[in-house]
Formats: sequence, C-alpha cells, structure tokens
Amino acid sequence: MKQYKTLITYQHNTLEESDKTLNPILDIIMEGTWDWSTKTGHVDRNPSWYRMLGYEVGIFLKDVFTWENIIHPDDYPRVMQHFEAYISGQTDKYEIEYRCKKADGSYLWIVDRGKITEWNDDGSVARMIGAHENIHDRKMFESELLSKNKLLQEGNATLQELLEEKNLELQKANEELEKKIEEIERISRTDALTQIANRRCFEEEIKKEVERAKRYKHPLSLAMFDIDFFKDVNDRYGHIVGDHILIELSSLIAKSLRVHDSIARWGGEEFTLLLPNTSLNVSISVIEKLRKLIKHTNFDQNISITCSFGLIEYDREESVEEFFKRADDALYKAKHSGRNTLIY
Ligand code: GH3
Ligand code: MG
Ligand code: MG
Repeated sequence: MKQYKTLITYQHNTLEESDKTLNPILDIIMEGTWDWSTKTGHVDRNPSWYRMLGYEVGIFLKDVFTWENIIHPDDYPRVMQHFEAYISGQTDKYEIEYRCKKADGSYLWIVDRGKITEWNDDGSVARMIGAHENIHDRKMFESELLSKNKLLQEGNATLQELLEEKNLELQKANEELEKKIEEIERISRTDALTQIANRRCFEEEIKKEVERAKRYKHPLSLAMFDIDFFKDVNDRYGHIVGDHILIELSSLIAKSLRVHDSIARWGGEEFTLLLPNTSLNVSISVIEKLRKLIKHTNFDQNISITCSFGLIEYDREESVEEFFKRADDALYKAKHSGRNTLIY
C-alpha cells in the first residue's frame, strides 16, 4: 500500500494531543482546507474555507457537490480535467487556479492545492486533503496589467498608423509645395503674354553667358530687335490683334532658333537674343535669316511686320551693362537707318 510522506513529521503521543494541535491550526489559518474521504463521501472544510467565500461557517453539506457547485462554469471543465488527471495518476501534482462563487454572487480567484494522503488497496484514492488560497488581488492586478498592456499596444499601433498617415500627408504636401515653388519660379521667369523668357530671366542669362564666355574664351553675341511702327499696327487693328502678333512673333523666333540660342521679351515690342559660342560673323547670318523670316511671314489678320536689329559680339574687357548698352545703341542706329535692317 502507498504511504503518504509529509515534509516534516509531527509527533503526538495521543489522538487527543493531535486534535488539540490540529483543530486550532485549522481554525486560525487563512487557507480554506478540505479533507475528502472517498469511503464516506464526506468533505470536511475548515472555517476559513467558508469565510474566504463569505458563507456562514458549516452551511453546506459535506459532499463534493458543494465544491463543484461553487466552481465558475467557465473554469469547471478545466478544473475537472486537472482533478481527474491527478487522481487517476496521470499527473503527480494537483494545483489549479480558478474562480469560486461567493455568498454575494461574485467570484473569487483561488489557487487550489491538494494531495492524496491515503489509497485503497486497488490503488484508487481513499483520502485527499487540500487547501484554497485567496489569489484574487494578484489575479485582478495581472488582468489589469494585461488589459493596460493591450491598450498600450493598441494605442501604440494606432499612434504608429497615425504617424505613418501624417507622414504620407506631409510628403504629399511637400511634393505639392515643391511643384508650386517650381511653377512660381517658372512664372517669375516667363513673360505672361508671349510665354517666352522675360526681362528678369534675360538679365540672369546674360550674366551667366558673359561669365561662360570669359571662362572658356568663347565668342558670345547679343542681338536686340524691335517691331517697326508697331504703334500703327495697334492703331489700325486694335490692341488685341497687336497682342496676337507679339505672341506669334515670339513663337516664330523661338522655333527658328538654334539649340543654345535664347529669346526674351525685354519689354513692349522689344526683344533680346543671346547667341552663345557664336561669333559676330556667324550671328550676322543667323539674324539676317530671322529678319527675312519675319518680313515674309503673314501674322494675324494677314498683317506683315518688319523688325530692326542691333547686333554685337561680346568684348571681354566690358561689363554686362556696357555689353547691353552697345546692343541697344546698334538697335537705335538700325531704327535710324530706315528700319527692317540689321546694324552690327
Ligand atoms: P518704331 O519703329 O520706332 O519702334 O515705332 P513703334 O510704333 O513700334 O514704336 P513706339 O515706341 O512709338 O511704340 C511702340 C508701341 O508698341 C506702342 C505700344 O502700343 C505697342 N506695344 C508695346 N507693348 C505692347 C503690348 O504688350 N501689346 C500691344 N498690343 N502693343 C504693345
Ligand atoms: Mg517699335
Ligand atoms: Mg520699342
């Protein structure tokens, strides 16, 4: 027959002496003890077993159903499975946490530990002793922590999503801003009517090209031209037609230029042409072609116009202002030489 071994052995000479020791212990300890005998079917429970759950001491029948009835329905299958496993010898430890129904209807978390202390001859359980320990506060604390942790994790996830969303929005806004800046930059360098470069753009370009001409010792030519008697065109056909001619003329020249040449509207009906890496000799033929092209083009309302051109090549000794002034002087001379002409 199997023998239950205690960790410490208490020696009492008489049964009476044993009871005198054990009964006060059972009365005062906080754990709710239980002592189940399969022979009688009785379960003896100490006062703390009842007190822990708020019941009047000794109110229940001394049977196992009392125990089964107070187990939380959700925990019941798990408790039974564990109990069965222990008493059938599949596991060597009975220790399980579950909820027990209290007198007020609420549930209390306990840990139930038990040990078989006596066996029948066939090896089945004859007696088992155990105790309930109140672990409700720890359980509550744990579940609070868990739910807080879950909330935190969820919070973190939403925060992360929010951040990513905001980042995307910011990125989009930045891209749009960059596009707008580019557009503003383009507009600030473009003539609103003709859509070619404006005076501001030309002033930057001429500085750049002068620097390059000096650096690489390349020739650089500059032409200025002005529509002849444009006031008369406006007077005769109206300002709107005049505008159309300015637009048409600009696009005609822009299309006819060589890759590195550039046109800008200086103001009114006056334009500039920059011909980088081009000597005066070569420029003369380029400009002459343009002059003739303009003369032979039919503009809006079948109107023919002519232009006067002043052309010069950059002299490395002069400033940008002097360079420009010489081109303006050449144009002035062209105007006073009967117009529709090129002076260089
Ligand atoms: P010139 O041969 O001496 O250059 O004679 P012109 O009539 O062209 O010169 P003037 O300086 O007397 O007049 C220039 C005219 O150009 C006056 C103005 O009405 C016209 N003009 C300037 N800017 C614009 C514009 O944006 N649109 C229109 N339709 N006309 C313009
Ligand atoms: Mg004019
Ligand atoms: Mg003019």
